[in-house]
Amino acid sequence: MPNTPDERLHPQLHINSYGHYLRRRFGFRISKVNVDAGFTCPNRDGSKGTGGCIYCNNVSFSPRETQAVVPLEEQIAAGMAYHHTRLGSEKFIVYFQKYTNTYGSVELLSDLYRRALDHPDVIGISVGTRPDSLEDEALELLTEIARTKYVCLELGLQSMDDAILQRINRGHTLNDFIQAVNRAGGRNIDLCAHLIFGFPGESAAEFLKTADLMASLPINSLKLHQLHAVEGTELAELYRRGEFTPLALEAYVTTVADFLERLPPRIAIQRLYGSAPLEISVAPQWGLKNNQMWYAIVNELTKRGSWQGFRFAGI
Ligand code: SF4
Repeated sequence: MPNTPDERLHPQLHINSYGHYLRRRFGFRISKVNVDAGFTCPNRDGSKGTGGCIYCNNVSFSPRETQAVVPLEEQIAAGMAYHHTRLGSEKFIVYFQKYTNTYGSVELLSDLYRRALDHPDVIGISVGTRPDSLEDEALELLTEIARTKYVCLELGLQSMDDAILQRINRGHTLNDFIQAVNRAGGRNIDLCAHLIFGFPGESAAEFLKTADLMASLPINSLKLHQLHAVEGTELAELYRRGEFTPLALEAYVTTVADFLERLPPRIAIQRLYGSAPLEISVAPQWGLKNNQMWYAIVNELTKRGSWQGFRFAGI
């Protein structure tokens, strides 16, 4: 028996969009400002692995690129000005996005996070990292910050299938992710999971089970991406050798709509697709702009007369 729409869903989008969630929680429009704080990744420098995940853009990985050339404060100011002009946003969350943003000494992390929070219009931080790169000291630091500021910890899982994680050279397991979520839960830190659909050999039915896993964990939000190949990656080479068949747009839209129907409405949706600059995008090439991708999925739910949580069975 389908559920009735939950009050947390955006009335037109039929999903609990993250923007809608932030507005409900804080009362005003908030934008995320991406920064590059100069981190690297343990799955590249040899401490966990080398070569990185097969879809990670190796071309952009160079010492010069990762030493954040522009000072943090300047990146934040430029990002805030952009979002203020474009969307009228008054408050901001600084998103430590590039590579593994807990991979450093606690002193370094504290300095970077607190500098971001120094600006009066910054209400919090979002920190992207790997589930196996979350030392106790870093977690304690985030917990302390979360006593007075908004903190979101973004953990990359990508797939719940350990065989896929191994094939894509993630260098961690599903269990690493579950342990990180359980350690970070109950600390007033929002937890966001990153998931990808479209790995070679992965069926839609297998991917849909991830919705049930998310429902069983204290996850607050999600980012969904299609697997896409960009220049400079092993995945692009696999594609050129005919060993990676990208998803068709229809398959992605249908499966994500199915996924959303199974997902509890309490989980906010930060992303519904991935995008890459045209000049490095290899496959798939769907030819849709970002908002067209977003609405392709929203329109699929509308067409079905369903919504996020429509088939959520409850835990
Ligand atoms: S964990 Fe992230 S940064 Fe590191 S190799 Fe994989 S995709 Fe790239």
